[in-house]
Amino acid sequence: MKIIGDYHTHTIFSHGKGTIRDNVEAAIDKGLKEIAICDHGPGHRLYGVKKKEIFEMRKIIDELNQEYEDINILLGVEANVMDYNGTIDIDEEILKAIDILLLGFHYGIIPKDGGSRFKFYFLNPISKVLPFLQKRMVNLNTEAIIKAINKYPIDLITHPGSKARLDIKKVAKAAYNRGTALEINSNHSQLSVENIKIALTEKVEFYINSDAHEPSMVGNVNKGLERALEAKVPIHRIKNIEG
Ligand SMILES: [Zn+2]
Ligand SMILES: [Zn+2]
Repeated sequence: MKIIGDYHTHTIFSHGKGTIRDNVEAAIDKGLKEIAICDHGPGHRLYGVKKKEIFEMRKIIDELNQEYEDINILLGVEANVMDYNGTIDIDEEILKAIDILLLGFHYGIIPKDGGSRFKFYFLNPISKVLPFLQKRMVNLNTEAIIKAINKYPIDLITHPGSKARLDIKKVAKAAYNRGTALEINSNHSQLSVENIKIALTEKVEFYINSDAHEPSMVGNVNKGLERALEAKVPIHRIKNIEG
């Protein structure tokens, strides 16, 4: 089994350690045919990419694609779920500039409406210790991400179940209906083996990505691959692995 592309890598445009060129050269060294540069969306207060930087990144990637013939470089964004209506931090202009759209739950965003702020920063953390709230939060988080899946052309949900708990079966079903894949993330524990097995009961497809924050980690998907093997994911359902 071999990884052919890594679709989730970070650079200095958010909080990664390497430049776009560093990630691309690392990917070439590892024999990848494709790499996506997906820094955090502009809604992230601490390390989100600024909107104007996305257009700078576009230019850099277009030039690197001219320079390197052996690899295809995609510009993406790892967008943030911004509220419980499924709004994300990507507008039409950004959508036109990028090649791939990733979406995940992250802390570090400030929802515009007070209700979402309360759910995200108060109910979500305390629901982890108060069992009677858990089901309600899982439902709310799941609804939010499904609304986003139905509203935007999302290619991939990153680390589903990390940061905010989700009903993976429902997310997998909604994702499949919209051609959105789920990520088995090598840098986070989700999807876990148990959650991969749940997702497998729907027809959704998967990516196994590094979520590299430094160039040396690009293409390093061993942890994700191990979980996929343990959960017995058929290889044809993993979009970036070949047998
Ligand atoms: Zn993430
Ligand atoms: Zn990431």
